[in-house]
Amino acid sequence: MKNVLVIGAGAREHAIAATFMRSPQVDRVYCAPGNPGMVKSGVQLADIAENDFESLAEFVEQKQVDLVFVGPEAPLADGIVDFLQKRGVQVFGPSQSAARLESDKKFAKNFMLRNQVPTAAFATFSDYETALVYAQNLSFPLVIKENGLAGGKGVQIVTESAQLEKALHQAFTQGSQVLVEEYLAGEEFSLMLFVGGPEPVVLPISQDHKKIFAGEKGPNTGGMGAYSPVPHITSEIVEQARQTIVEPTIAGLKKEGLEYSGTLYIGCMLTPTGIKVIEYNVRLGDPETQVLLPQLTSDFYTAITDLTAGRTPDMKWQGQDFYLGTVVAAPGYPSQPKQGLPLPELSANVFYAGVVSAGKRLLSSGGRIFTLVEHAPNLKEAQAKVNAALGKLDLAEFYYREDIGFRDL
Ligand code: AMP
Repeated sequence: MKNVLVIGAGAREHAIAATFMRSPQVDRVYCAPGNPGMVKSGVQLADIAENDFESLAEFVEQKQVDLVFVGPEAPLADGIVDFLQKRGVQVFGPSQSAARLESDKKFAKNFMLRNQVPTAAFATFSDYETALVYAQNLSFPLVIKENGLAGGKGVQIVTESAQLEKALHQAFTQGSQVLVEEYLAGEEFSLMLFVGGPEPVVLPISQDHKKIFAGEKGPNTGGMGAYSPVPHITSEIVEQARQTIVEPTIAGLKKEGLEYSGTLYIGCMLTPTGIKVIEYNVRLGDPETQVLLPQLTSDFYTAITDLTAGRTPDMKWQGQDFYLGTVVAAPGYPSQPKQGLPLPELSANVFYAGVVSAGKRLLSSGGRIFTLVEHAPNLKEAQAKVNAALGKLDLAEFYYREDIGFRDL
């Protein structure tokens, strides 16, 4: 029997850990640092921070962990995979140099240019004045991004020149490098791949909902809900993405020596002039993972260890139902989430994120608190099931969107 360590603390990591728990080969699933909500699924918590590589390596040895799965981007960008591999640990995730595809947007954009991966036109700046002069000469809307990791919150869409100075100021106070990018209009979708074998495994298509308010209004968040599969992203579109985006990306990774076993998440925009890449992420999406992994019907441990060994796994997914997940957030999220609110007793189908335990109860301790997932033969029913389940709970103090999946309803 095998032991697995999942690194991270969110609902995504809860879903990853719960999927390993389903494997008949797996005995124990640990999560570091995890959150106390995960314990309800039988996950064992290891009180080690995700950036404390030394202690994580010691834990792996002590508990005879056979496989480490890294959930979030920050430890990947800090080189956790290289660190653990040097100690002989089997770990699923990109090396530090490959993780730059997410942690360094300029690097990612230049990678796309070198490898003929279609993406938005862009320029990079390290001083405010030059950026301003450049951007003033473009047509609006345009997009301003800080170069580094920002938890999905470092992007500003500027619709008129009056907003430009403020947006650039904000970007330069957050980071020293800023990208000014062409705005891509179209339908957004995520393509997630497990890479490691000769052929990448394309996961079912999912769609997240980044804005805080219903109808995709208001500021960006880490993600307020997701569903999968996505009817309006047809198999023809996926095939087109495979040819024009996935193939040159995978070939580019190989050519540039950035091969790894791990997740490659490609944020795509279906524009009138073809599919273009918005960004790469080098880990699974949150909340997309919460609606993807419950669809897996084959063995997760076998698939991931195939990938770390350079084999293409045969992954099987349910093909009947729609999976829909809604994120419940603390009031004030995303700017100032209120802490310490008691959670009601929750049943199954819940993946926990920002929670701490206080005696027998769980209290909110972050922005996104949990994702509740249901499935049904059609999307409308899946949405109704989620809203009915949430409606029965005493969530008056919390916030969630009731319209997850609206684009396909
Ligand atoms: P990112 O952090 O690059 O994923 O961006 C977050 C979100 O901002 C994306 O999911 C898109 O909705 C939006 N976005 C980013 N770049 C662009 C772009 N060039 N054109 C239009 N929307 C964009």
